[in-house]
Amino acid sequence: ESKRLKNRAHLFQNPMQDSYLRNLHIEQALRGALENHELYMVYQPQITGNGTFYGVEALVRWNSPVLGNVPPDAFIPVAETSGQMPRLGRYIIESVFRDIKKIQNTHQLMFYTSINLSVRQLLEADFATYFISRMQKENISGVWLTLEITESLLIEDIPSVLPLLHTLKSYGVQLSMDDFGTGYSSLSMLRMLPIDELKIDKSFMDAAVADRSAQQMVQSIVTIGKNLEMDVVAEGVETREQLEMLTHLGCDRFQGYYFARPLDTEALVQFITEQQTF
Ligand code: C2E
Ligand code: CA
Ligand code: CA
Ligand code: CA
Repeated sequence: ESKRLKNRAHLFQNPMQDSYLRNLHIEQALRGALENHELYMVYQPQITGNGTFYGVEALVRWNSPVLGNVPPDAFIPVAETSGQMPRLGRYIIESVFRDIKKIQNTHQLMFYTSINLSVRQLLEADFATYFISRMQKENISGVWLTLEITESLLIEDIPSVLPLLHTLKSYGVQLSMDDFGTGYSSLSMLRMLPIDELKIDKSFMDAAVADRSAQQMVQSIVTIGKNLEMDVVAEGVETREQLEMLTHLGCDRFQGYYFARPLDTEALVQFITEQQTF
C-alpha cells in the first residue's frame, strides 16, 4: 500500500507525467464543457492612436466545476490535439456573434471585433462557408470582423487555405497576423497571405522601454507593416511609458492592461459608454 502511494507521489512529481495527466483531465472535462455552458467570452478593448475606443479582441474563458479556471493557453492546444477544436471554434464564433449582436441591439453600439482562430479551423474545408453563413444569419457585416491567425500555420498548408482567406476577404473580413515576430516564418507568411494587420507580440513590450534593440525591433516591424500598407497593433501594453514609446515608433493601435483587462459584456458596455481618452 505505502509503496503504491509512493509511486503515485512520484508520478505527480514528474513534470512530464504531470502535464500528460493534466492534459488528460483537461481533455475529458472539455468534452462536456460546451453543453454545460462552462465556456464564455471576454473582450479586451483596443485603443486608437488618438486614445479612443476602437474595438475588441474576443478571448475565451473556461470555468470548469472540476478543474477551476483553466487558461486558454492550457486548453486550446488540448482541444486541437484531441479533435475538439472544430466544435469549440464554432462555439466561440457563435458566442461572439451573439454577444456583439446583443450589445448592438440593447445599446446601439457597434465596434470592430477580432476573433482568434486556431489553424485547425482554417484547415476545415467548409470554414469560410460556415463563417459567412453565420455572419449573414446574425446580419453582421464582415467589415466589423478581423480574424487573428498565428504563424503555427505551416507554409505547406498555405496553398490550401488561400482560397478560403480570399473568400472571407471578399466579404470584408480582415486578417491579422498575431504574435508577429515570434515565429521563424513571419516574413514568408506575410508575403504569401493577404494580411491587413500585424500584432506585435507582448514579449517585445516588456523590453521596449529600456532596451534599445527591442525598440529597434518594434520600429522594424512598424516599418514592414507600413510598407505593406498594414495596420500595426501593439498588445500587452501595461504602462504609460510603453504607450508613449509605441506611439513614437508609429504603432496604429494598442491593447493591454494599461487601458483595460479583458471584460465581460456588461463591463465592456460600461467601458465603451464612459468614453475615456488615454
Ligand atoms: P493572444 O491571442 O496573444 O491573446 C493575448 C493574451 O494576452 C490574452 O491572454 C490577454 O488576456 C493577455 N493580455 C492582454 N493584455 C495584457 C497585458 O497588458 N499584460 C499581460 N501580461 N497580458 C495581457 P489569454 O486570454 O489568457 O489568452 C492566451 C492565448 O490563448 C491567446 O493569446 C490565444 O493564443 C489563445 N486564445 C484565447 N482565446 C482564444 C480563442 O477564442 N480562440 C483561440 N483559437 N485561441 C484563443
Ligand atoms: Ca490574439
Ligand atoms: Ca497575440
Ligand atoms: Ca499569444
